[in-house]
Amino acid sequence: MAGEPQDDCLFCKIVAGHVPATIVRETETTVAFRDINPQAPTHVLIIPRAHYKDAAALATAEPALAADLLREAQAVADDEKLDSYRVVFNTGAGAGQTVFHTHAHVLGGRGLEWPPG
Ligand code: IMP
Repeated sequence: MAGEPQDDCLFCKIVAGHVPATIVRETETTVAFRDINPQAPTHVLIIPRAHYKDAAALATAEPALAADLLREAQAVADDEKLDSYRVVFNTGAGAGQTVFHTHAHVLGGRGLEWPPG
């Protein structure tokens, strides 16, 4: 069923507490934790507790939950005292998505170039 935890999903295991993570924020609907391979001084992943494979699937099924991720991105930025930051949703393998449980990357704490690689 849509949104149900998946046995083979790393981020579902983090939500369940079965895989350790450095959690920085939690809400009823989201969990935010530090990326294991940080690309900036602040690199936090924000995920919905519910399992959707990518941002598009989440936004279609539960738009309010997609908005929760963006609100939490600002909360992370506030906690980390970031004046500016970047939010990235890699969507699809060709765009670099490797974990197929929706996640927002929040990157900041250094100058970020455009266009991204
Ligand atoms: P994607 O490439 O956009 O799917 O992002 C997946 C992210 O998850 C990558 O930046 C990884 O470094 C990160 N990652 C993978 N495994 C873990 C983990 O166990 N804890 C925290 N971050 C992870």
